[in-house]
Amino acid sequence: MQHSDVLIVGAGPVGVLNALGLAQAGLSVTVLEAEPGIIQAPRAMVYHWSVLEGIERLGILDTAKQIGFTKQDYAYYVYATGEKIELSVSVLDGMVPHPYNLHMGQHKLAGIALEELQKFDSATVRFDTRVTAVTQDDAGVTVTTEAGEQFRAGWLIGADGAGSAVRKSLGLEFEGMTWPETFVATNVYYDFEKYDYARSTLQIDPVYGAIISKIDNDGLWRVTYCEHLDTPQEEMGGRIPRWFDKLLPGDDEYRLDAYRPYRMHQRAASSMRAGRVLLAGDAAHATNPIGGLGLTSGLFDTFVLYDALAAVITGRAADSVLDEYSDARRRTFLEIASPRASANKRLLYHTSDPDQLEQQLAQLRALAADEDAQRTNFMFTKQLETRPLVPPAGRA
Ligand SMILES: Cc1cc2nc3c(=O)[nH]c(=O)nc-3n(C[C@H](O)[C@H](O)[C@H](O)COP(=O)(O)OP(=O)(O)OC[C@H]3O[C@@H](n4cnc5c(N)ncnc54)[C@H](O)[C@@H]3O)c2cc1C
Repeated sequence: MQHSDVLIVGAGPVGVLNALGLAQAGLSVTVLEAEPGIIQAPRAMVYHWSVLEGIERLGILDTAKQIGFTKQDYAYYVYATGEKIELSVSVLDGMVPHPYNLHMGQHKLAGIALEELQKFDSATVRFDTRVTAVTQDDAGVTVTTEAGEQFRAGWLIGADGAGSAVRKSLGLEFEGMTWPETFVATNVYYDFEKYDYARSTLQIDPVYGAIISKIDNDGLWRVTYCEHLDTPQEEMGGRIPRWFDKLLPGDDEYRLDAYRPYRMHQRAASSMRAGRVLLAGDAAHATNPIGGLGLTSGLFDTFVLYDALAAVITGRAADSVLDEYSDARRRTFLEIASPRASANKRLLYHTSDPDQLEQQLAQLRALAADEDAQRTNFMFTKQLETRPLVPPAGRA
């Protein structure tokens, strides 16, 4: 049976970035991924300024900036009236090391980290390897795959997404609720900039609410809208042209690149630690993606977890630090990330009462007119961070 210091289930961004941090700390790590490669489906694409320092510490920010792009512009767009309320991360210029957001598909971020990881002899990544069972004893953790193979390690990180087999294997509850809509994420080539769209546009409307964001420098944009839950999955694709009639400004030709429907949740595992198994990212907590707080939370899990786990394995910290990890990250998700994401969703998609909408718009107009208030607004995502739980160690 193959043995490593740490097994990681899932080669999404959280799994691969944790693996990279652990390999850089000199540990042996094996990543097991069910799919034949990194999943390419349209998902996260905005990395808030506050996570860029952590990405930099892993040594991959420069490459990420070359592959993606950075930007500061934001706008709320009121679909019914055409009102545009503009904000800019430039209010953070001089205040923080990276006063901009990075845009790039999450598969690209995971791909960059994977390439770095593969430079370490102590790291192994196995695709086409679906984990079906996890058991543990005093000395370590054993996983069994669909093909009947077994892998063993001292510790395991479950980074296998919202449907986490690791979490289920441990019998941990995924507490919370599922929204009664389907979110449809589309990637489309269309020149929104010609129509003066901010590269992150949050469109407010009870029917045509949408997130419209630029993904890359080749003209690819993300348009995400809500479908009624009753709409059959197989009809989603056929309905896209009708949605685009309403959501795309002008009537230029567009080219649909990809789309995918998603259910949305506000849920968290009852604990992010069970003995020698830790959960991180969507395996530990899932949120609707409005405001980009899902992977943001997963990255902030990562930045404290790999250090804490490396410190425990090398004897620099007691394993109680992993309980601190679980408590701090769960609390941050439940008390800060999840409520904000729900408020974002209500504003964009569910404000049909005109008085209530006007009240919210008045707040946004006041925000746009006040740079100090914008600073406070953009500092919000920093609250999702957990300060280091162990002193810094030398990197390999
Ligand atoms: C439309 C959309 C837009 C979003 N936009 C943003 C955004 O802009 N910013 C943001 O912060 N967040 C965003 N999110 C949320 C973000 O996509 C997730 O938070 C992120 O994918 C979590 O990463 P992860 O690595 O934890 O899990 P995942 O990306 O789900 O990766 C889990 C991996 O585990 C693998 N796996 C699953 N089961 C097994 C198994 N049994 N054995 C082995 N491998 C397994 C899967 O194949 C997958 O590769 C968005 C989500 C959606 C749906």
